[in-house]
Amino acid sequence: MQKKKEISNWGNFPTSISSEQWILNSKDPGITFNQTEKIIPRGNGRCYGDASLGENIVSTRYLTNFLELDEDTLEMECESGVLFSDLLDLLIPKGLFLPVTPGTKFITVGGAVAADVHGKNHHKDGCFSSYVISFQLLTSDHKIINCSKEENSELFWQTIGGMGLTGIILRVRFRLLQIETSYISQESIKAKNLDEIFDLFEDSKDWKYTVAWIDCLQKKKNLGRSVLLRGEHASIDDLDQNKRKRPLLVENKKSFSIPFFFPAFTLNWWTVKIFNLLYFYKQRSKKKSAVVSYNTFFYPLDSIEGWNKIYGKKGFIQYQFVVPLETSKEVLREILELIAVSRQASFLAVLKLFGENSPEAINSFPMKGYTLALDFKVTQKTLELVPKMDAIILKHKGRIYRAKDCVSDPRLTNYLQLPESNFESLQSIRINSKI
Ligand SMILES: Cc1cc2nc3c(=O)[nH]c(=O)nc-3n(C[C@H](O)[C@H](O)[C@H](O)COP(=O)(O)OP(=O)(O)OC[C@H]3O[C@@H](n4cnc5c(N)ncnc54)[C@H](O)[C@@H]3O)c2cc1C
Repeated sequence: MQKKKEISNWGNFPTSISSEQWILNSKDPGITFNQTEKIIPRGNGRCYGDASLGENIVSTRYLTNFLELDEDTLEMECESGVLFSDLLDLLIPKGLFLPVTPGTKFITVGGAVAADVHGKNHHKDGCFSSYVISFQLLTSDHKIINCSKEENSELFWQTIGGMGLTGIILRVRFRLLQIETSYISQESIKAKNLDEIFDLFEDSKDWKYTVAWIDCLQKKKNLGRSVLLRGEHASIDDLDQNKRKRPLLVENKKSFSIPFFFPAFTLNWWTVKIFNLLYFYKQRSKKKSAVVSYNTFFYPLDSIEGWNKIYGKKGFIQYQFVVPLETSKEVLREILELIAVSRQASFLAVLKLFGENSPEAINSFPMKGYTLALDFKVTQKTLELVPKMDAIILKHKGRIYRAKDCVSDPRLTNYLQLPESNFESLQSIRINSKI
């Protein structure tokens, strides 16, 4: 029998005692599980909560082969354990980029399909699934099935956003984006309150990428104080002489690393307050333009290795919801007021706009509306705050993102349409037992 060990995802909460097997070859997976054993696939553990935890974990982290890159059709095929960071290193020098990317590049391609990840361009380009052509799936009866919109299409769409509960994705083929440079032409604009930030999103609809950082500690007339970032892939003409020398530069700066878990008191209402003030006033003018590297624009947190340790050993939760467009501002107001009163400081609060999601992607998280992601240290007070936020989201017919969740009311996670199988995670047990 395999020795079990304690495993957690990016939030370091919760943990599971699990056995772990690794697939080493996507053609001949060679892993053993029987029909009664419950298993869950795991990529790089960059989901925050309990989605890729379970009794028996099957890891794809050694499936790291690039299989084909067709620069004419802009199609790429690789094994499912390949990280987005490795793809960027390969693609950028060739003038290619990922069509959709989340706020970290340390996720696997399999994890991107299973959570159907979104980026700062959802309002224009949809989720990662909009670019997926096909994949191979290992099902619980040990069969490898080819899935695409044409072949086994039901299983294809169930797997997208299916959170690993349909099988283990072994290989993925997807489309790429062409770029002239690896830089982003960025504008950052300060908004003094919620009305202003909503107007700014409205005015920025034609920009490819938009995102806002919100100071959750502000109240009353300053409620919703924020900074909007909007960006486009820069052309050669946008670059200064120095950057023009290497327009497709791959930046792999050595990152700053957090070597140990911070003591629990480090991150508190006061330290977050100071950080937020510095962040907001760092930019003096209302609007600032700059040409920045793709790392600065898409992955600012990746430059601090192990930043999740600043929340202390007990870990943290990320609470990400989406609510329909019509009531988004009203919900944001209610949630931000609740947080400000609770004095539970969220260090990161990121607001994005979702467009219409593909109707075939039945298990995907996005819906047309605004999505807010908040980080909270795990404390008794946080766990008391969650049901209060849940009640607001539920009232307004919103949803919680399964890739971040581990504590919310199961009625808030989209009900997954799945085939019978023996795939099961801590999350699916938690949610199914309560629905
Ligand atoms: C700093 C940070 C920022 C983030 N920003 C965003 C964002 O902007 N947008 C967004 O959408 N997400 C975001 N995320 C979440 C992250 O993109 C997703 O959770 C992603 O699924 C993680 O991929 P992973 O390879 O680490 O998979 P894991 O975390 O290991 O697993 C995630 C899910 O995918 C399943 N899975 C993984 N590999 C496979 C496979 N080969 N076959 C079948 N199922 C599999 C697992 O069972 C699990 O349900 C962010 C996460 C972090 C840490």
